[in-house]
Amino acid sequence: YKKRYIAQDGEPGRGKKCFGKNAPDLIVKVPKGTLIKSADTGAVIADMSGPEPVVIARGGNGGWGNTHFATATRQVPRFAKPGFEGETFNLVLELKLLADVGLIGFPNVGKSTLISVISAAKPKIANYHFTTLTPVLGVVKVEEGVSYVVADIPGLIEGASEGAGLGHEFLRHVDRCRLLAHVVDVSGVEGRDPIEDFEAINSELAQYSDELSSRPQIVVANKCDMAMPEQIESFRAYVEQKGYAFYQISAATREGCEALKYEIYNHIKDLPPIKEYEPAPVVSLDKDLEKRPFAIRQENRVFFIEAPWLVNILNGVNMDDYESLQYFQRVLRSSGIIDKLEEMGVQEGDAVDIDGFEFNYVR
Ligand code: GDP
Ligand code: MG
Repeated sequence: YKKRYIAQDGEPGRGKKCFGKNAPDLIVKVPKGTLIKSADTGAVIADMSGPEPVVIARGGNGGWGNTHFATATRQVPRFAKPGFEGETFNLVLELKLLADVGLIGFPNVGKSTLISVISAAKPKIANYHFTTLTPVLGVVKVEEGVSYVVADIPGLIEGASEGAGLGHEFLRHVDRCRLLAHVVDVSGVEGRDPIEDFEAINSELAQYSDELSSRPQIVVANKCDMAMPEQIESFRAYVEQKGYAFYQISAATREGCEALKYEIYNHIKDLPPIKEYEPAPVVSLDKDLEKRPFAIRQENRVFFIEAPWLVNILNGVNMDDYESLQYFQRVLRSSGIIDKLEEMGVQEGDAVDIDGFEFNYVR
């Protein structure tokens, strides 16, 4: 529930040419598979799927005191260079589990029972809807050294992709899965129709994303111990005619479960690996001035420069000091602001405004 993370400030510099001490890094731990996205653009900045930490926001830099600019002829310069602020971002952290196989299906069809049979995972199993509230991962051992990961996610209900019930929250957990195992209660004990259920879930997937609905999918008809052979056969015919591989099991009696374990492995062994997101290049307030973003707005003969980082620099500039002004001019030039102003047709004598501070443009 903590929403703001702010690293400590470094210490200020001190006399006798001393730098201030850096503050420690602020490390935020996230579950494996968390995507770091920009809240503004939605772009993925980092995919925390690997073992490596990722630097998201760089700290600022200290400045240089006036002693730094001292020369033999100029012992006490009236100029110092301010530091840079650290970076600030608005981020959204989204967990997309890392699993090979995602179990999908209506509540109460037996997904949790199945994962507890084929893996060592022990999710809560009960005969009421929405027993599973948080996703559970289970490692399925195929043979020595060969295994895959199955995710049991809370049951999807109709309207899930529009955010009804719990579904939408959890659809993203199967987003990376290489294979979807669609579990259907074929017995109809709850008064449901397996074909309707099957279609309803698939249309939820399609509404969530085209990509997810075209993900390889197999169909697992569960509760066969309670189903009539005709029920199973007619569902099988329907599913196979649609082109899906069909497996019948009873998670309760374990019938068919051992075989399913290997069948699933056969399906995934040739599929592409678990999806990792390519991070988009961040517009980072890099230490290089060339990369610092700015915007210029023109109203009549006034050019407004919008660049928060520049204000910080401006505040440290001593306007009465020639060297200091020169430094500021260099900043304007190397950040590309001067070029942009000229491109926009700035004329000698036009006003340039930086956060309320106005000066005239002189070539
Ligand atoms: P989930 O909501 O899909 O995770 O379903 P659960 O695994 O929690 O199971 C819901 C109920 O169905 C529980 O009471 C299970 O014991 C029961 N169940 C699961 N699999 C079978 C099965 O193969 N046969 C029968 N008869 N009941 C089952
Ligand atoms: Mg469950």
